[in-house]
Amino acid sequence: MSFKDIKGQDSAISFLLSSLANNKVAQSYIFAGSGGVGKMLTAMNFAKAVNCQGDVKDKPCDACIPCKKISSSNHPDVSVVKAHKEGSSVGIDDIRELIRSISLKPYEARKKFYIIDDADSMTQEASNALLKTLEEPVSDSVVIMIVQNINFILPTIRSRSQTVKFLPLGIDEVKDFLVKAHGVDELQARLLSSFSSGSPGKALKDKDADFLEKRQRILGAIINKTFFDLEFEKASRTELKNYLDIILAWYRDVFVAKAGGVAESFFNIDKKDIIMTEAKKADFNKLEDTIRQVLSTYSFLDTNANPKLAFAVLGFKI
Ligand SMILES: [Zn+2]
Repeated sequence: MSFKDIKGQDSAISFLLSSLANNKVAQSYIFAGSGGVGKMLTAMNFAKAVNCQGDVKDKPCDACIPCKKISSSNHPDVSVVKAHKEGSSVGIDDIRELIRSISLKPYEARKKFYIIDDADSMTQEASNALLKTLEEPVSDSVVIMIVQNINFILPTIRSRSQTVKFLPLGIDEVKDFLVKAHGVDELQARLLSSFSSGSPGKALKDKDADFLEKRQRILGAIINKTFFDLEFEKASRTELKNYLDIILAWYRDVFVAKAGGVAESFFNIDKKDIIMTEAKKADFNKLEDTIRQVLSTYSFLDTNANPKLAFAVLGFKI
């Protein structure tokens, strides 16, 4: 996998490649953008490009020894730093090795790379320790912080780092990526891309998690008015949020149809006839009311309210 396999991030990639060509690789970068848009892949490929020994114009070559070692996570000078437990914060223990070894010479690389995943979850203690480390100039190490929300990074770290923005992709770009690179059929790809918020990574995750099957089940329950038969108790909070995305997209489609919008803009493009029929029967105020209820159910889930209760209240509106 090289830069050409990363879709929709041409400006981020060309910025990094020009800093490499001009010998201006920074000591620390913040890669900022939504989840699943290619930040980690870009970071890995940048580490390869900087260390590539291949005799090619477009680096990384993906064939030389450093490229291969980095691709298979076997390079002693390239490490991914992350929280020791999934879903928890990046703490001081997680970055201790970085702090210890950053000023040491690389084993075999031109530049060592430390890629901190979910760096916006760093604890205060970890952030302060990292800041101290970044204050000491080290010529042969590069730190890349991968973040979704740059506002959670200390301003003093931000001012010492080069920020690279990663933008969400368009629906058609995500769809084409699913079709061409993953052999997903056109309709499925269109549906997955509609729900992806411009993130190819999310679309692929949804594909593997049978998202479309879940969508079918939930929409069936809304259309046939059997919402209370769905077993929400067993679902995790993340799953429940996924369900809310599906419910919200449905009412948004009906609302758009009612307002005279075109079917091409529907999330659930495969159900356009039912959406049109529902729109004819629906009342604007009631639709607005339901959409508001779905939105407040998201906040219920965030504030640790009883999810079962939150969904029961929503069920009455639906
Ligand atoms: Zn190479």
